[in-house]
Amino acid sequence: MQPRPKQPRTLLTRLFGSGDALEGHREKILYRIAIASAVLLTPFGIFNLFIDRLSLGLAILATVGVLAVDARAIHRGRRPPVPFALLLVPTAAAVAILLLLQPAYGVLWTYPVLLFCYFVLTRGLAVLVSLGLLVGTALLVALNVDTATAIRVFASMLLTIVIVNIILGVINDLHDRLVAQTITDPLTGAYNRRHMESCLDDVIERQRRTKASAALLVVDIDRFKEINDRLGHAAGDSVLRTVVALIGDRVRRLDRVFRIGGDEFLLLLPDTDLNAALTVAEDLRARIEAAAMSGVESGAAPVTVSIGVAVLQTGQRMDAWMHEADAALYRAKQRGRNRVVAAEVDAAPVDDGAPRTILSPAKE
Ligand code: GH3
Ligand code: MG
Repeated sequence: MQPRPKQPRTLLTRLFGSGDALEGHREKILYRIAIASAVLLTPFGIFNLFIDRLSLGLAILATVGVLAVDARAIHRGRRPPVPFALLLVPTAAAVAILLLLQPAYGVLWTYPVLLFCYFVLTRGLAVLVSLGLLVGTALLVALNVDTATAIRVFASMLLTIVIVNIILGVINDLHDRLVAQTITDPLTGAYNRRHMESCLDDVIERQRRTKASAALLVVDIDRFKEINDRLGHAAGDSVLRTVVALIGDRVRRLDRVFRIGGDEFLLLLPDTDLNAALTVAEDLRARIEAAAMSGVESGAAPVTVSIGVAVLQTGQRMDAWMHEADAALYRAKQRGRNRVVAAEVDAAPVDDGAPRTILSPAKE
């Protein structure tokens, strides 16, 4: 089983995908739209000024102008000063004026405005604005032309909105899959090392703010090289997958499993103190020892793991925390493998001078 959090597949996420694939690309999109608009709309703006349609000409040139202001800032690597939603004010004014003056021409421009909404505004805002544009346009056409035309305009705009949403849904889905691939180990489905760093950072930051405890378990398969040598690489792969599946079955929804080396895994347990972490570790160790592994002969010695456990100390950095868990794992290996060892905490007072090490009862 994949130890990843399960995304609820609501109707909305089915239709639209769960992520926002365009986030981080909107400025680039706006910049290009601004250039295209300046080239294509400026002549219309000037033309309308010449033929004394002052309000329409000004609204068109204002649209080009505000786009240009933001595009200039983007070009210089600065934050665009005009919020993207406000860009729509002169645009909507221009379309509304044109719909009143020449409804047939006005309708033509509502389609690029719809696209503009979906590629520049956030998804929720785009849905709101586009539905407003749809109703507003249909009403103006109904009042200024006739109902039959308004119905056709309504249907064709609605179809455009649906198609754009379907396409963005597919893009979001592809984006989600790509993100999942970049943070997941393809063999086992555990998260990879790159994702581990950002998750550990989050937990450390959270502890700094809320004092929430967190534990790390470093799990390493015992004598895995021998398993590979004896049974072959494919059987070794299968053991790796089974170990991750067993870990995934045991942990909670917010716990995370990372593959950090060939046969080494890191388990991050937020909101977990040392005792609870040791209980989880011992349970995992016992489950893995008891599990039947495909590809491993029934009479052969069971596949076992050694586990180092370290609880995040106040103010501790990521590398120190991982180092503690690693050192505990090292001691578990030294003391015979197939066991759980807790980290020795430097800062903790130790009365009798004995190492603060907790050993699981298992022996090899
Ligand atoms: P120890 O008990 O000390 O951990 O011994 P070990 O044999 O498990 O440790 P070692 O680090 O020597 O061996 C790890 C092996 O894992 C070596 C490498 O060939 C194997 N390995 C690394 N990645 C993969 C993989 O993706 N698939 C398989 N099948 N084997 C892998
Ligand atoms: Mg190993």
